[in-house]
Parts: sequence; C-alpha cells; structure tokens
Amino acid sequence: MFSDVRATVRQENRPVSAEQKFVYDFTEGNKDLKDLLGGKGANLAEMTNLGLPVPPGFTITTEACKVYLDTGAEPAALRAEVSAHLDALEQQMGRRLGDAADPLLVSVRSGAKFSMPGMMDTVLNIGLSDASVGGLAAQAAAADGSGDRFAWDSYRRLIQMFGKTVLGVEGDLFEEALERAKQAKGTSDDLDLDAADLKAIVEEFKGIVRDHTGRDFPQDPREQMDLAVHAVFDSWNSDRAKLYRRQERIPGELATAVNICSMVFGNLGADSGTGVAFTRDPASGHAGVYGDYLQNAQGEDVVAGIRNTMQLAELEGLDKTSYDRLMTIMETLENHYRDLCDIEFTIERGKLWMLQTRVGKRTAAAAFRIAVQLVDQGLIDLDEALHRVNGAQLAQLMFPRFDEATKAERVAWGIAASPGAAVGKAVFDSYTAVKWSRSGEQVILVRRETNPDDLDGMIAAEGILTSRGGKTSHAAVVARGMGKTCVCGAEELEVDTKKRRFTTADGKVVEEGDLISIDGSTGKVYLGEVPVVPSPVVEYFEGTLHAGADEQGGLVQAVHRLMAHADIRRRLRVRANADNADDANRARRFGAQGIGLCRTEHMFLGEERRREVEQLILADNDKDRDTALATLMPLQKGDFVELFQAMDGLPVTVRLLDPPLHEFLPDITELSVRVALAEARKDPNENDLRLLQAVHKLHEQNPMLGLRGVRLGLVIPGLFGMQVRAIAEAAAERRLGGGDPRPEVMIPLVGTVQELEIVRDECELVLAEVAAATGVKLDIKLGTMIELPRAALTAGQIAEAAEFFSFGTNDLTQTVWGFSRDDVEASFFTAYLEKGIFGVSPFETIDRDGVGALVEHAVREGRKTRPDLKLGVCGEHGGDPDSVHFFHRAGLDYVSCSPFRIPVARLEAGRAAIETAGSDSR
Ligand code: PEP
Ligand code: MG
Repeated sequence: MFSDVRATVRQENRPVSAEQKFVYDFTEGNKDLKDLLGGKGANLAEMTNLGLPVPPGFTITTEACKVYLDTGAEPAALRAEVSAHLDALEQQMGRRLGDAADPLLVSVRSGAKFSMPGMMDTVLNIGLSDASVGGLAAQAAAADGSGDRFAWDSYRRLIQMFGKTVLGVEGDLFEEALERAKQAKGTSDDLDLDAADLKAIVEEFKGIVRDHTGRDFPQDPREQMDLAVHAVFDSWNSDRAKLYRRQERIPGELATAVNICSMVFGNLGADSGTGVAFTRDPASGHAGVYGDYLQNAQGEDVVAGIRNTMQLAELEGLDKTSYDRLMTIMETLENHYRDLCDIEFTIERGKLWMLQTRVGKRTAAAAFRIAVQLVDQGLIDLDEALHRVNGAQLAQLMFPRFDEATKAERVAWGIAASPGAAVGKAVFDSYTAVKWSRSGEQVILVRRETNPDDLDGMIAAEGILTSRGGKTSHAAVVARGMGKTCVCGAEELEVDTKKRRFTTADGKVVEEGDLISIDGSTGKVYLGEVPVVPSPVVEYFEGTLHAGADEQGGLVQAVHRLMAHADIRRRLRVRANADNADDANRARRFGAQGIGLCRTEHMFLGEERRREVEQLILADNDKDRDTALATLMPLQKGDFVELFQAMDGLPVTVRLLDPPLHEFLPDITELSVRVALAEARKDPNENDLRLLQAVHKLHEQNPMLGLRGVRLGLVIPGLFGMQVRAIAEAAAERRLGGGDPRPEVMIPLVGTVQELEIVRDECELVLAEVAAATGVKLDIKLGTMIELPRAALTAGQIAEAAEFFSFGTNDLTQTVWGFSRDDVEASFFTAYLEKGIFGVSPFETIDRDGVGALVEHAVREGRKTRPDLKLGVCGEHGGDPDSVHFFHRAGLDYVSCSPFRIPVARLEAGRAAIETAGSDSR
C-alpha cells in the first residue's frame, strides 16, 4: 500500500507557475490534481468539468496549507486570491456572503490527497449571523413558508460546528443542550423542534461559546470563513488525523486542501435531503443500488448516524426524478473513473446536487471482484486490474471464517460492513479497548455508533460492533479502510456505554469482558467464541477448491485470474522459507518455486535430537565430537531427503547452522535450580553438572553478536562438514532414486570473504568425497547470506567466493539500526511510531534509505564481481508487500517468505513489474 502512495506521489504532474497560485476555481482543476487540490477538490472540479450539478466553489491548495503549517501564517498572497474567487462566486450566485437580506452561505471542507474519512474538519453554513438569519429565512420562505425553522436550524448547526471545530468548545456541551431542548419538548426527534425552539437553542449555543472561549460567536462572515479555513489547516495535525495517517501509512507532509463551496440545503423540508451512495456494493463488489438517504437533513447527519437513514432504493418512491438523475450520474461517474465511486449528494427542494465523489474504499473481496468485473466490462485491462488489488487485501481473504454450522447463539444480525471473523471480549469505550489489548486481550469494541475519537479503540480492537448506522457510517468506512472486521447497525442490541453492557432483543445482558464473536461477512453477532474454518481462497491455493468454483459470488475465480496474471507479469521468483516436508509441500501448492531458506537449526529441535546436540556441545575431545556428529548426520540426511523430495526439480537453499549453541541448552535458571535441588538431595546428576558448566561457558552478553553463524562452523570442527555431507548424500540418494534434487548450501552471518573461503574449502572437500563415494556428480552451489553491514559493504569481495547472495534482512536491520530484533518492538517502538520517527517497523517493511541502500550497494558490487550472481532475500521482508516492490526494483532474482505469504508475494511481484513497466515508459 505504501508503494501505491509513493508511486502516485511521484507520478503526479503539478502545474508550476512563476507566481504561485493558491486558489483554484472548481472549473480550473481536474481529477489528476489531487496533490494540489486534495481528493475532494480535484474530484469536485472533475465533476464540474463533466457538466454534473456541483454547487459552484473554489479550492485553496495543499501548498497554502503547507505554508500555514510551516510558518504559522497563511501565505501573504492568499487573502487577496480568496477575495477574488469569493467575489467571482458571489457574482455567479447573485448573492453576497452573509448578506443580511439575501445571504450566500458556504461550506468549508477539508480534503487531502488520500481520503481520511471524518479525521479532519468541516464547517457548514458559514455566512450566517444574527443579521443574515432573517435573510436566509426569507430566501427559504419565498418557496413554501417554512423558512424560519430552516434558517434557525442552519444557524444552530453553524454555531455548533464552528464552536466545536474552530473554537475548540467541547462538542458534548452543544449536544447536551440540544438533548435538553428535545426532552423539554417531549421528543427524541430534532425535527420536532420548531423555529422558536431553535432560536432559543441558538441563544444558548452563543452563551456556551461565550462562556468557554471568552469571546462572542463571530458575526462577520468573512472572519467566520477565514477562521474555518485555518481550523481545517490545523486539523491536518490533530491527534486523530496523525494517528489515522500512521495507520494508513499516509505521508504526513502532504497537507490538506480546503474547499469552499456554495451551500445547498438538504434541510429545507420533506422534498429535501442528503445521502451517500456507492456505484456498487463496497462490501461484496456486486452491482446494485447501495447507499443511505436522510430526508430533511444536512450531510453530517448521515455519517454521524444521528437519525436512522433509509435505504437509497427507497428514494425512488419519494422523488423519482432525482433518483433517476442520480442513477444516471452514478453510471456516468463509474464509466468515467472506471471504478467503484462513492458519492455524497444533497437534494434541495427536488433538485439534485453532487457534493463529492471519489473512488470508493471497498473490502478485499469487493476489490478482487470489481477488478475482474471491470475487465469483463471492457473498462480496464488485466494490468490495471492487478494494480487495483494488493497483497494486504489478499492476505485478508486468507483469514479463516466462522464455521457456518456453529451452534453458537446468534443474538443479532446487523449490517455486514467489513468482513472477517473476530472474537473478543466486549468493551464499550476506546480507552478500555486500548488498555486491554495492550495487556494481550482480544477485544471487540461495542458502541452505539463510533466517531473519530474512537479511532484508537478501533485500531486496538479485533472488530467493531455498532447498533446504529449503515454501510456508510463512520464505523463502517473506517473499519473497511483498515481491513478490520465490522458489523454495524445491529439494531436489536441496546447498547448502554455508561453501564458498559448491551442487551439483546430477548433480554440477555452482555457485560464488559464477556466473549462475543462477530462476522463481518454476514453481519451476524454471536455470544461466546465461534470456531473458525479456512477461507475459500486458502482452499483454492491448497487445491481443495476448484478455481472455477463460484464460492462467495466468484471471489475464487477473481483471485485465480488475477494471480495468474501476476504470475505472467512478475520477474521475481518466489520461494519459501521452509524446513520440513509439510511446509515445503504446502509452499509448493501455494506456488513456491523452491526453498530460499531452510533453517537447519529447526531440524535440531525435539527431545531426542536436542540431547544429541547437547552431546556435541559437551564434547571436549575429537572423539566425542565425532561420535555426536555421526549420530546427528543420518537424522539430518533423512530430513533433507524428504525436503528434496517435496521440492523435486526446484532449488532448495539449505542454510548451515546459525544460532548460538546455548539456544539448544536448558534455561540457565531452570538448570541451576535442578542442580541445586539434586545437590540438596545429595544426588547430583553428572550430565546436568556438565551442562550447567557449558551453559556458563557459552553464556554471552550479546548472543546475537556472538558465537553464531559462520563463526560456529569455524570453531567447531566438523560441524558444517557434517551438514554438507548430509545434504550431499541426501541429494545423491534422491538422484539415484530417480529424483531431481537441487540443493544449494548457504553460509550465515559472514562478515568477510576470508570466513567464507575457509568454509568453502571444507565444503568442497566434502562434496568431492561424497561424489567419489556415490558416483553421483552433484552441482551444488555455495553461497552466503548478506546480513551484516560489513558483508554488504564488501560484497564485491565476498562475491568472489559466493555463487549466490541471500539478504538476511532481519539481521541486517538489527545490525544496521543497532536494534535488538527480539526486544525493541515490544519496548520502545510504540514511542518511535508515535513520534513519527518511522511510520512502520523496519523489521516489517524494509528501511529503504538505510538497509535498502546497503542491499542496493551489495547488489551492484556483487554483480560487478560475478555478473551471474544469483540474488534473493529470505528475511521477513521477503513476504511484505512494500518490500517486495523494493526488491523488484533493486534487481533481485527472488524473494523467499513463509508459505502462507507466498500468494501475497506472487501478487505483489506482479504488481511491482507492472509499476516499473509503467514508470520505465514515462
Ligand atoms: C535474516 O537474518 O534475515 C534471516 C533470514 O536469518 P534468521 O532470521 O534466521 O536470522
Ligand atoms: Mg539471520
């Protein structure tokens, strides 16, 4: 995903003028100017150019915001530019901003390049004041006499929004005042408040502003507008916006644009309203009419879930003309953008207005289905389709699902807002969600509806359950964006966040801490823990589900087609990190083209083998050591035979022993206690005593920098020789049995070519001996891991002794940063992430500037020495989507990753090839 973001940052061409222009009319921009105008501004311009009904307006650029954020003041030229555009807007609309007799009102809306739903500020109805509220009433009254209520409702909305977002007044103060007014009137519906009630509320709201800011609500419309613009600029750096950006890996330096748009009103009565819609179902990808509509309301009411919305399809019965027009526009937009679009619209007294469109967020399954549907419709080609899905989505589709045969009690059936199967303890506020999850609990965040302040809790939770709101509610949109399971609008549930519990339709009470299970693919909510079953996509990769199966509405077929295309397009080969036949077999089914890392230490585990390794460690003379090695050798050989069989015909890179030997010895404390107890019983155990001595002797302050890797091979005579013999004999046996084994021997933790040369000589000797003894001529390549900075820096020399390099980016990251790979993520990484030192752990995604630069250097130098040097990576980064793109660009031949990540790596390798092909041709 990060790579997408960066690629688009790089690709966009921004107009450059000697005199920087900070304001663009909607008629001046277009959809490709998202860097400058933000997504909302660019798309409003695009819709304007398409001739769609967009209320006139203009956009203040992200560049203006950057100046403001960098210097604390808006650019000097901005005020005059805004004035000029405002004048033009006023002329076009035939009204002046905030005019007492006939006011023009505007909305001031944020809009960054990448959608950040609800994270930044918006203020509607700017221009209303004590002076102009009457004018607005008169405007509205001209039509049907309902003007007073509407004008005062709009004014109270302005003070409420402005007070909260611009002046920083606690939003609850307004909510509570509104709630009190409704109670006094004996209603729960804001529509029952009449003009007089709303006028009183306006007075109360003004009082709240005065009491909490020490100033009056500003009456000057231009001051309102300017303050709102600054507030939007500032909201780019609000805590929640920063958190969201970190979560979604949106670069912090992008900034937001500000859109100033003439107001149209959905709150003018029953023939008005506002809604959101998708051109197809964002949850499943299927065609149809999807959206929510709210009569007599303004935009924020829909997303906030204040009143329950009606389904968009019902609009047809209410206002067929607007509905039909909307359907036509949606089709236009989908064909124009060649993708699923989501839109916001308002109907003002029967006239439809488009307030926003963008390429809509979607679930992983929808992304795959839509991509191939659009190919079939002839709107995009397969390259474009592949570009539109990503590895993170594929990984999501590989998660297990709930077992549909479950006997668990279903207590609600809400809206399937974001798929996945999540089990956890119910928690009712964000703080508890974070706290409990930090202490290792899995939690489900349960709310009536979420708002942007819940972001922390949503990130911490396994899933989100709400009792209000539709597919376009905040919870649904944000959860989908994060790939988090979400069921929303489970109306049967009575959620009481104060008492920290919810009650089901039949009166069962679920308290904080009770286990619940939510299914984001079906919307079902269960009590207790529901067992899970594998995903159909995994069954397809496993070969147990046919590619043509129409499982889940063509999902498997879509995955199959896009994977096949990725395989055609990719240059990188994909291997597996596997060290037993089971993993190797699975990896092969998942598309592995060999093994890139067999960690032989894993073959030394298990009670019996561990004892043999102990004997090797305890051996203090050649004879004992040879005996121990001779016992281990057939065990190793047997493992290799199985592995080569599973990967017959494909390369298998076997890495010789790497970890410090003390890892094979008992824990020092446990052993000390055992020895002490035995001594106390006067029954000392000789072996334990020797072991304890060895543990003490082998103890290291920094074992990761100690006696491990090639160093072990150099100080323990015969160890590597035994391993190489086992490999060679296993290969010979397979060959004699008609197989096609292709082993490669890899030496870990090399820092200098001399280490490699010594080990290489020993290995070659053994290989020659085995060839002579078996009569089988083996072509076994010898290579090394590049996982120390010195190895990367001297790669040109090392390549003289190595036929291949495999980058061990786990150790390379550890040693380049000086970060202990076993400790730092749990200790201080949270602080580093919070401070923005990096956006993602360098152990997860390759640090391009540091570790990546060393990789590039080693590739260059290595190939200078040995042009046919084979290059791969086998650290965890080999299966990380963003890193796969980096390795593709760095010119590696393959990535190697755990079996389960192989499909993701294949897909991303295909996408990387398409991206570079695109940038090469630019
Ligand atoms: C590495 O360091 O990246 C690597 C693959 O080796 P290991 O994780 O076994 O140290
Ligand atoms: Mg390593």
